[in-house]
Amino acid sequence: MEIKLKSIMGKDKTAIVGKLNVSVGDTIETGQVILQLETKKGNSPLKSEISGTVEEILISEGQTVEIGQTLLCVKSESGGETVPKLDYFAGMINGKKEDINADILIIGGGPGGYVAAIHAAKNGRKVVLAERKAMGGTCLNEGCIPTKAIVKSAELYEHIKNANEFGLEVKDARADMSKIIDRKNSIKDTLVSGIEYLMNKNEIRVIKGSASFVDERTVSVKSGRDEYTVEAENIIIATGSTSSTLKIPGIDNEFVMNSTKALDCRDNMDCVTIIGGGVIGMEFAFIYSNLGMKVNVVEYFDRVLTMVDSDVSEEICKIAKQRGIGIHTGSKVTRIGREENGKAVVFFEKDGTERFITSDKVLVATGREPDVQGLELENTGAAANENGRGIAVDSGMRTSVKHIYAIGDVNSRMQLAHVASHEGMVAVDNILGKDAHMDYTAVPNVIFTSPEIANVGLTEDAALREGLNISVSKFPFGANGKALTMGESEGFVKLIKDLDTGGIIGGAIIGPEASALISTLTMIINSRISEEEIIHTVFAHPTTGESIHEAVLGLGKGAFHYHE
Ligand SMILES: Cc1cc2nc3c(=O)[nH]c(=O)nc-3n(C[C@H](O)[C@H](O)[C@H](O)COP(=O)(O)OP(=O)(O)OC[C@H]3O[C@@H](n4cnc5c(N)ncnc54)[C@H](O)[C@@H]3O)c2cc1C
Repeated sequence: MEIKLKSIMGKDKTAIVGKLNVSVGDTIETGQVILQLETKKGNSPLKSEISGTVEEILISEGQTVEIGQTLLCVKSESGGETVPKLDYFAGMINGKKEDINADILIIGGGPGGYVAAIHAAKNGRKVVLAERKAMGGTCLNEGCIPTKAIVKSAELYEHIKNANEFGLEVKDARADMSKIIDRKNSIKDTLVSGIEYLMNKNEIRVIKGSASFVDERTVSVKSGRDEYTVEAENIIIATGSTSSTLKIPGIDNEFVMNSTKALDCRDNMDCVTIIGGGVIGMEFAFIYSNLGMKVNVVEYFDRVLTMVDSDVSEEICKIAKQRGIGIHTGSKVTRIGREENGKAVVFFEKDGTERFITSDKVLVATGREPDVQGLELENTGAAANENGRGIAVDSGMRTSVKHIYAIGDVNSRMQLAHVASHEGMVAVDNILGKDAHMDYTAVPNVIFTSPEIANVGLTEDAALREGLNISVSKFPFGANGKALTMGESEGFVKLIKDLDTGGIIGGAIIGPEASALISTLTMIINSRISEEEIIHTVFAHPTTGESIHEAVLGLGKGAFHYHE
């Protein structure tokens, strides 16, 4: 029997296949959830109305399906209408085949791929985009947006718990992980359908399926039984990255999660151990801690967040410890065990002795790998980076094959969504005949801990490593009126000035609204705005932005509202 899609939640005619729970050969029962459908109204489970054995799966995760479409063929145990064998095989043979020509083929619909597609389409190019899962990539589906949705729930809960500091009495506040995840999913779904709308409006043909190179101008995109052969003048690879894993005993336990799994974990946990004190690990540490869980972070290096200056890292560690987050640096995880009661035990070596931490779940946040799986890049001759991680590109985003470009996480330059998008613009500009280059000197990055951390330009450590003659100014949020009214007076704004050129070359902010404030510093560094010009700019009062003005004053005769 064929299992068809009979209806979709809401008024939509199409939906996206989310998690597929069955494989060919599986026995399924009536009422069993065989897959999740991602709709504009949220996720909805699709239950089987028959029992039997799965003979064929005609769809794949991430594929768009429409009402009436056959999803699975099942050999029914309860009789019913059996599809004649001849039709079944005819269907297999007749899977849709199409040859398509394009000016530009983009592989991957994340922030790199979809921005490149829109930019190219707006400039009159015929664009085809292949995406094997949902549009929006890691960023929208399992990265930036989902984490920040949960960060907001967690911070709000933390504020509510401390409401009495603001003269408010709130009783019986409770965090419900399942509802937090539902809210996250609905934000994600809104944004994903927004991207689909933009693809449509910009007349970009989106093919749902997995792309692999046939040769350096031809790509095959397969989706279930359907196969599309796309020939393109130029190809942009924007396939992103996937979570890397640790090769240690016990990593396969079901209580071990990567960030993707953690973002869908609806369990109300008491304690979590996080392996890795990088950006993702520390964001989750504050999420779980703000939600009232006991959190321990185990980090191999001698400090967390090694990409920021040591004073910034020390400040966030101090704040983390005040909130009860255990930070174990210089610690090498050796294995993960399971207690009789089902709890996880993470064993690690620190200072030559073995220690352990027990928790409900373990989150492994040890970085991400460029995703080139299944691309069959060897059919193009495009070279990998020297360290073997990701595809090598020049500053114009060209690979070693002239008409093939690689943007975003897959080139392993900077794993940030806004970098992927900007690299996409540079690649398209070069295809359009311009001489565009990617400039990384003023790329902001934000870490959504509580408080937030944001950096742009050179760190103090990097400037010193480069032998630059610098001066540093720091203005604490404890001396900023707005920060005090917000009850968020921890942290500081720090500026780095090159004494030889007089220019501001870097800045770090740890404190309230750092994610918004960093745009001002980015503009200052990118547009080389002088100290004098900033001093004579009027900053509104009372705002956290005044801290930037004060930090700039601190580079000269000193801040008005702070004296060491
Ligand atoms: C938990 C987490 C939090 C993050 N938070 C932030 C943040 O706050 N800010 C920030 O800037 N960055 C953040 N990032 C990083 C950010 O998500 C990535 O840098 C960004 O998504 C990279 O964009 P991309 O377009 O290169 O790739 P992706 O977004 O990974 O998109 C690649 C797409 O290509 C598709 N694909 C892969 N192979 C094929 C194939 N063969 N055929 C068809 N399709 C294919 C994939 O399905 C995917 O949809 C976060 C990441 C994680 C995991």
